Amino acid sequence: MKPNFLVIQVDQLTDRALKAYGGRYCNEAIDSLFSSGVAFNSCTCQYPLCQPSRASLWSGLYPHQTNILSNGRRWPVEDLADSVPTLGSVFKSNGYKCVHFGKTHDAGALRGFEIENEDAIEIGENPQFPYNQDTFRDVYTSKKANEFLSSYGWDKPLLMVVDFVNPHNICGYVGKKKDTRIEDPSGLPELPSNYNFDDIENRSKSIQYICCSHNRQSQVATWTENEYRGYLGAYYHYLSLVDKQIGTLIESLTNTKGYDNTYIVFLSDHGDSMAARGAVTKQVAMYHETVNVPLVFSGPLIEKKGMIDALAENLDLFPTLCDLASIDIPSTCEGISLKDAIINGIRPQREYAVSEWFTEWGYTISPARMIATEDYRYIYYLEDGKEELYSLKLDPYEKYNVAEKAEYEIVLKKMRLYLEDFIKRSNDPFYHQTVYAPVRWRSHKVGYHNHVGIAAPMEDA
Ligand code: ZN
Repeated sequence: MKPNFLVIQVDQLTDRALKAYGGRYCNEAIDSLFSSGVAFNSCTCQYPLCQPSRASLWSGLYPHQTNILSNGRRWPVEDLADSVPTLGSVFKSNGYKCVHFGKTHDAGALRGFEIENEDAIEIGENPQFPYNQDTFRDVYTSKKANEFLSSYGWDKPLLMVVDFVNPHNICGYVGKKKDTRIEDPSGLPELPSNYNFDDIENRSKSIQYICCSHNRQSQVATWTENEYRGYLGAYYHYLSLVDKQIGTLIESLTNTKGYDNTYIVFLSDHGDSMAARGAVTKQVAMYHETVNVPLVFSGPLIEKKGMIDALAENLDLFPTLCDLASIDIPSTCEGISLKDAIINGIRPQREYAVSEWFTEWGYTISPARMIATEDYRYIYYLEDGKEELYSLKLDPYEKYNVAEKAEYEIVLKKMRLYLEDFIKRSNDPFYHQTVYAPVRWRSHKVGYHNHVGIAAPMEDA
């Protein structure tokens, strides 16, 4: 009998929020997946935004290959081409029951899955950490997923995806709390060591003016340290809520006859800034907090335990599940199988990991590429040709861009070669992509707190 898979995805979870990656707070269900599984200490999402990242994940293609380059609100997005094999279509044609619960936002890349409706169950309010649809949808998702597991007959092997939305509720939190002042921050989390953005003058304009291209960053222009600590408190709260839902899901699975033959995978579509550099949520920033996501393979079929010190990508999910299920990996898949790492503890061979950016809303378009090795992160922004380089071993919180320092010249040249290699091998139109950054959205004194008013209104496009 082929193995079953339960893939649990959350939305907007940076790895640093979890105990397994050095975080301060416990989350019982998620932590237990890590303590009983094989995890990767550096997993890169392919785009720090929901829809492009998810379309990439389910199709096994880089975002520029799916051409799904935004959330689609202002910049047009066409559904994934029918000719592209998807995780769902491949597993379905190999005899699997493929079911999906929760958030889709996939631009057609979940093709092959039977998709449960997205709905919500309200659970009252919490004045300190207000809820929005994100939280309520998770309650509905786990209810439906648990009902499915309790009634499934296991006549076919199962590929089940449960897509939770939290801690994404943090985006709605910013909107609701943008004008609220916190007088007493006691009990709230401390700010990260990279909260102050001392090096902002040495970054791309795309980074210096996130406040002008992203409404959430503009909404926090008047926040002080207290409000940022409130943000972190809320973030951990929303994470604890989804952890509870994951706990019920795993308990439901444990009570089925399919459990003993099931791999459990846990990952996130992208991260969250978590107040690093005074930033909130995610967007064009391609630093650790927004692009590094947790990845763990757990469950009764996993014998090896612990963290593997290696570069993984979200793109690896598709080929890895194929490999674990003895299904031929489609030639279109860009990622690599992590099976040898999961089963035998062998480090995967990968020189660099990649993430991409194009736009969120379409009224500023600032394409970027991020190349990460185990030791360095290199980011190139098309808007101003600015290069950023971080020594991840010496400066893991990416406080200082060293791209222009003479002692890093050799490293810089090597990172540029990796970018050229990526562009060539993946047929990436990066250098020919549109740039749209009106002067009026690049004009105030540098610093997010100097922003006045809302971010670029939609009619500016
Ligand atoms: Zn601004």
